[in-house]
Amino acid sequence: MPTLRATGTVASIGYASGPLFIVGRETTAYRPSGDHITESERLFDAMDAAAQQVETLASSSDGDAAEILEFQAAMLRDASLSESAIESIVGGIDAATSWSDAMRGQIADYEGADNAYFRARSADLQDIHDRVLRLLTGEQERQWPPGAVLHARDLTPTEFLSMDWTQGGAILLHEGSAASHVAMLARTRGVPMLVGVGVLDAANNDLILVDAERGRVIVLPDTEARHEFLKASTAHRHLMNLARSRLHMPAVTADGARIEVLVNIADPSETEGIDIATCDGVGLMRTEFLFGRGLPGEEAQLAAYRRVLAWAGGKPVTIRTVDAGGDKPVPGFTVEESNPFLGLRGIRLSLSRPDVFRVQARALLRAAPSGNLKVMFPMVGIAAEYAAARAIFAEEATALGLPVPPLGIMVEVPAVAIHPAPFRDVAFFSIGSNDLTQYVMAAGRDNGAVAALNDARHPAVLRLIREVVAFAEANGITVSLCGDAGGDPGVIPQLIGAGLRTLSVAPAQLALAKAAISSATTSDPGHGQI
Ligand code: PEP
Ligand code: MG
Repeated sequence: MPTLRATGTVASIGYASGPLFIVGRETTAYRPSGDHITESERLFDAMDAAAQQVETLASSSDGDAAEILEFQAAMLRDASLSESAIESIVGGIDAATSWSDAMRGQIADYEGADNAYFRARSADLQDIHDRVLRLLTGEQERQWPPGAVLHARDLTPTEFLSMDWTQGGAILLHEGSAASHVAMLARTRGVPMLVGVGVLDAANNDLILVDAERGRVIVLPDTEARHEFLKASTAHRHLMNLARSRLHMPAVTADGARIEVLVNIADPSETEGIDIATCDGVGLMRTEFLFGRGLPGEEAQLAAYRRVLAWAGGKPVTIRTVDAGGDKPVPGFTVEESNPFLGLRGIRLSLSRPDVFRVQARALLRAAPSGNLKVMFPMVGIAAEYAAARAIFAEEATALGLPVPPLGIMVEVPAVAIHPAPFRDVAFFSIGSNDLTQYVMAAGRDNGAVAALNDARHPAVLRLIREVVAFAEANGITVSLCGDAGGDPGVIPQLIGAGLRTLSVAPAQLALAKAAISSATTSDPGHGQI
């Protein structure tokens, strides 16, 4: 089989190589007793034994792991967890089937929740389900060879914790979420992890190279791929050592310029894994996750925004109004379009649905007094859109008797970057290099076939960035960059050279971004190799 490549989203940064281990979900058959009293007792015994196992594991764990296990033990000890399974047993169904059916319903409810926190918790329920089922069927807990690259639809926290990661290894999930408990654990333990990889066309024991820095997977690498991987992973290791030693220090270039480094987040729970002392605030909170499976209410949004503001403790937090559409469809909100990246997306969609936009505006306005909030509008192309959005915020603020926080825009539509003059009254610009690059280069950000073209170091993109920064400075507008390029050590020297002094990066990129800044200078290195 030839070398095969796949891509995924980085949930935990790092490099790993090892044999593939495909994690299946096959189970041992259960033997029913035929008597509902015995079946109920079997289920209660299995749940009790599962709770004891988890409590024992919790007592020998610490930090996040202990918290996750304690949460699972509490669920297993909660009588309501078994209620519907017991009803089904009384109705004549065996314990294993009743348990699985009841849990499947609950897992589906969690998976379908509006809130990413609850969606991510579905893995805990899956974990509880599997453990009790194993106890009912007498199946052994699964063991994976140390150092393996696990490939699974999803992985549960205790499955993660049962693996010996000291020997290396990595996780590749078909789907999964970077906000899941497993992703959180992987980041804490430094286990490379990619989500959204899909199903690999590979077999157990195939050699896999995982580049969880750029989100790449290589199956059965040839000599060239191995060589490239070794070079990249060695460079990464050196950089990581340097980065860790400087994480708590302010980011300063080699020629002494202070660079503010903020983080990009989506789910408020992501803040749990970030020490606020290591960053200068939140440069971008994407709110699409709140809209992931429907339209969230004002109170749910308010709670999410307040949580982030409280965590930031006075440092700036820029929350972006919903950027639904494009690659982020929201059922009941976005519309079917033949070319969604050029369609009713971001502020265009929000302005076409003032009912939805006003709810978000109110939640943001009410959250603002809890911290240092700035509000940002995505996909703005013309000044009238900004004016309309600002007017809605002003009206809602008057109705609530609250002030309007600083309002700014993403600079990601080329029209704005080329002709920023109509936006002189905006409080701040944040350059969205992901979209700006894809629109300038006409190369879709989600299309691997044109990935080489989608490069923020192209002279055309860098020129626009340089001009936007110069315009902002000349007009007293704060300017930053919050696209993925901001956390890419290969692009950071060009961004600083283009005049940027504020970058907002994915939390997993924070240490490396700071390290890259420390070896960059403010002189413009021009564009990279395109
Ligand atoms: C961008 O476009 O660079 C950006 C930060 O926004 P998003 O990736 O959410 O479109
Ligand atoms: Mg964007």
